[in-house]
Amino acid sequence: MDINCRHCGEPLEHDALHDQYDINGEKLTYSEAGRRFKRFGCGLEDQTVCDNPMIDLFASIGSATIQDLSDEPEEWINYGNTAY
Ligand SMILES: [Zn+2]
Repeated sequence: MDINCRHCGEPLEHDALHDQYDINGEKLTYSEAGRRFKRFGCGLEDQTVCDNPMIDLFASIGSATIQDLSDEPEEWINYGNTAY
């Protein structure tokens, strides 16, 4: 079950939010990892906004929309999936 970067559309396994670290090696709480993913996308660990090339425009648009509507990462799952 993937969530997607709002900036480039890159998928991230949702459960990976339970296993993220900051630049000092401190383990992030799930909710902090979610907040950072919402803001920084792929750059959540080093707190820089993702500037990767767009890989999936529709996943990016869908994910930006749901992430603006909800602070619950569980609710972001599959919003980047255009196959359903
Ligand atoms: Zn990204």
